[in-house]
Amino acid sequence: MQEILKAIMDDADSETFANLKIPATYRAAHILKSEETIFAGVASKDKDPRKTVHIGQVPTPELAPDECLVAVMASSINFNTVWSAIFEPVSTFGALARLARESEWAKRHDLDYHVLGSDAAGVVLRVGTAVRNWKPGDKVTAHCNHLDDQDPSAHDDSMMATNQRIWGYETNFGGLAELAVLKANQLMPKPKHLSWEESAVNALCSSTSYRMLVSKNGAAMKQGDVVLIWGATGGIGAYAVQYVLNGGGIPVGVVSSPEKAKILHELGCHAVIDRKTANYKFWNDDNTHNESEWRRLGKDIRGLVGEDPDIVFEHPGRSTFGASMYVVKRGGTVVTCAATSGFMLEFDNRHFWMRLKRLVGSHFANYREAWEANRLMSKGMIHPVLSQVFSLDETGTAAYQVHKNLHEGKLGVLCLAPKEGLGITDKELRAKIGEDKLTIFRRAK
Ligand code: NAP
Repeated sequence: MQEILKAIMDDADSETFANLKIPATYRAAHILKSEETIFAGVASKDKDPRKTVHIGQVPTPELAPDECLVAVMASSINFNTVWSAIFEPVSTFGALARLARESEWAKRHDLDYHVLGSDAAGVVLRVGTAVRNWKPGDKVTAHCNHLDDQDPSAHDDSMMATNQRIWGYETNFGGLAELAVLKANQLMPKPKHLSWEESAVNALCSSTSYRMLVSKNGAAMKQGDVVLIWGATGGIGAYAVQYVLNGGGIPVGVVSSPEKAKILHELGCHAVIDRKTANYKFWNDDNTHNESEWRRLGKDIRGLVGEDPDIVFEHPGRSTFGASMYVVKRGGTVVTCAATSGFMLEFDNRHFWMRLKRLVGSHFANYREAWEANRLMSKGMIHPVLSQVFSLDETGTAAYQVHKNLHEGKLGVLCLAPKEGLGITDKELRAKIGEDKLTIFRRAK
């Protein structure tokens, strides 16, 4: 592994990378099938990823013809890292077993360990025999859309593929490791003005927000639209704020502390609601909504921007969903990609149908949407929201922070990179954008 790292640090040529020996094993953050039931009877909030995320050597898998082996310099924690580590809502070993039934190559994934991680930035070491667009030595970032592109259901919108999966969550060999196995069409050029860790935190969350807000497959936001964004300094929310501002919309960001409100102001989002201070009680108890609190939220939004939201960027789920469906404007759109606080959602259908609202389900991003999101990142029009950097050994601790909502933005993980700040090759673009814009979340920590 040291030789691989040396070649990366020396910016070696493609031939040098092609001739490097691939180690038989590599260090990886993984969970164990034998621990699937370790949290039986434990409340969700008390399930601790630090107990189940292990760091250790695993065998290097063989490469399928359409795959690339990447030396991972950095990766990131996503909420799906937490889901896998606490085996909720289901154990991801079930997904690996289902994948294994699809093809000979897919059988490799069904193991008694699961290497996690759905983001990565690094350098291509090997390409499969059918790979044409990438070569050893290419500096890449990776998106997590994993599918069989020979399946006709994938051809219009690759997120519609019947066998679409999230790499590193529903597949093995993810990015929280020294090496990662990726389908060639998951790779994208690494943004040259960013460090490895800044490049590694974007693809999953930024692409998700792109599809939800910008794409015609999501809410297709237009100039002047008011967009209510829950968790506006969280992983997907912090990119959502940027997309709204970039597209001429008016973000209303919801956060839960004055520190997070300050970050929003720095991002340029001036309509901010601190939900802790506002102390909304959307539920009287586990089964009864409090509609007057939905109205209070609507009033607060109108007090800030003078009108109801055209779009609500929804992901907390059960705790906020009824309110989101209520406050969105007549004819407006609620777009949702998650349900962190509970997935059995309830809303008052009378307000929904009488006010001709729309509800759009959204999940990650198709190839094109992920590529567009990376293009905007590479041009310096959207910025990383990296707040803290951890070592690979600290993956469980970082996942714990996300589980407990102790973080802002994205948490990066150094895999092979020996320190932060490496990998920047376009210093001119970086200087043009300015360190202050690139490090808003980093400075907040
Ligand atoms: P994150 O970094 O933890 O951010 C979520 C934010 O939501 C938090 O910062 C928190 O902000 C807010 N929040 C949490 N609980 C809340 C509640 N009960 N009511 C209101 N706000 C609440 O997570 P993320 O990476 O943004 O992901 C958010 C969700 O989206 C997760 O469930 C994740 O699995 C999902 N996701 C789905 C996709 C997909 O493709 N379908 C992709 C990415 C993420 P405040 O405390 O500041 O309000």
